[in-house]
Amino acid sequence: MNQIGIIGLGTMGANLARNFASRQIKTAVFNRTIETTKEFIANFGGEGHLTGYETLKEFIDSLESPRKVMLMVTAGPATEAVIEQLAEILSPKDIIIDGGNTNYKDTIRRTEQLKAKQINFIGCGVSGGEKGALEGPSLMPGGDLQVLEEIMPFLEQIAAKDFNGNPCVHPFEGIGAGNLIKTVHNGIEYGLMQVLADAYEVLRKVYNLKPEGIAEIFKDFNRSELNGFLLETAIQVLEKPDTFNKSEKLINYISDEAGSKGTGGWTVEAALEYGVPVPTLAASLFARQLSAWPEQRLKDKALFPRPLADQITKDPLDIFTAKLEQAVWLSCIVSFMQGIRLIDEVSLKNNWGVYTGDVVRVWQGGCIIRTQLLKYFPLIENGKLLESKLPTTTNSLAYVYSIAAKFGVATPALSNSFDYIAYSTDPNLPTNFVQGLRDCFGAHTYKRNDRDGVFTENW
Ligand code: NDP
Repeated sequence: MNQIGIIGLGTMGANLARNFASRQIKTAVFNRTIETTKEFIANFGGEGHLTGYETLKEFIDSLESPRKVMLMVTAGPATEAVIEQLAEILSPKDIIIDGGNTNYKDTIRRTEQLKAKQINFIGCGVSGGEKGALEGPSLMPGGDLQVLEEIMPFLEQIAAKDFNGNPCVHPFEGIGAGNLIKTVHNGIEYGLMQVLADAYEVLRKVYNLKPEGIAEIFKDFNRSELNGFLLETAIQVLEKPDTFNKSEKLINYISDEAGSKGTGGWTVEAALEYGVPVPTLAASLFARQLSAWPEQRLKDKALFPRPLADQITKDPLDIFTAKLEQAVWLSCIVSFMQGIRLIDEVSLKNNWGVYTGDVVRVWQGGCIIRTQLLKYFPLIENGKLLESKLPTTTNSLAYVYSIAAKFGVATPALSNSFDYIAYSTDPNLPTNFVQGLRDCFGAHTYKRNDRDGVFTENW
């Protein structure tokens, strides 16, 4: 009998199936398009412990009880359709694990619906892309603890390793918790990518550097605490030669219209719903949306003429890059902080048992946002690190962002990170003024800073 079954042999499912099988776990695979299953078995069946099935019934019958079926299918209606089919043929106590990028609210609904048939359901965040799926992803399964305990021995074997060599997987207590954590992981991913894009932008537009020059600076950053997967990827992207214009880099020919698949938007929706500010993550999403209006940007170009790079006094490059490194450091930390605070609040409000220390540990290996910076998070949680590093890094962030602004260069992630730090450390905000306006035009009331109670004024 097979020990686990994978449905969906696309990029992720195929590699996860090979990962399970490589740990001597007998793995059944099924794909809607039969040809894909045949091709997969022809290519990888020789690796052992992999069996392909042409019908869902044969696939299900091949699994030992309670069955564990992992879906790696396009999220949304496709996943819904597969779950409906499974609900008809699975038995009580069987477990469906949805590894897709599913909205956590769908997981809550599906778990409830499947309960009527006593079928267990787990929403499991998976991160790491193709390579991570094969060699070790970061896994964020969420649901009922008893059910999670049944699948943990399997997930632990395929997961990446954290800084201490433990598997990058944790049973997150709470129906939907795994998907919410993965969603926010992606929201943070938007933030970190925009931080790097901002650094790239300042270096190319304020210092007129070419991609290879920027790659060298990023390599220096990557030798520091900023070391991580996205920075390594950034260097790779900057250094890639173009196929058509051989003496130039590909990056100069990639269109600036950025796409997004939805999880960044879900992060911002959750932030709005739970009242947790995530300005760096939201600005990173909105930056991509603005980028998707190319005709408008071209049409309005003349409305905002930028100063030329040699018209404003600026630091020598080596002094500037030291400040930029600190600015990037702080903005990355702030991106993580915003996401972690969001997860904390959603968990609290839903009575989930998610401890954010476990979330950060699971992100130490295998996933797209893995970085050495994550080793700081237990310190950040009790404020120690920020106390010691905040003054210099905030000054550097303010400097980089203001120099960029002087040149007419936008740095949405950096500027919003600065505002987040400045606002969240200021006990005397101008929002007293906002409260005054609200009471003046709408009698919305205000609190005073010298006595208790709620007041309204006869303006
Ligand atoms: P692919 O597009 O490579 O594969 C999609 C899979 O879904 C195929 O096996 C396809 O089968 C199947 N499928 C699509 N529609 C249906 C349907 N109506 N009924 C049955 N099966 C269907 O996707 P990925 O492997 O990249 O992603 C799979 C899931 O994992 C998605 O939810 C994605 O969000 C998530 N994910 C992806 C990551 C990535 O880096 N790519 C990272 C983490 C999560 P068929 O061959 O018949 O078309």
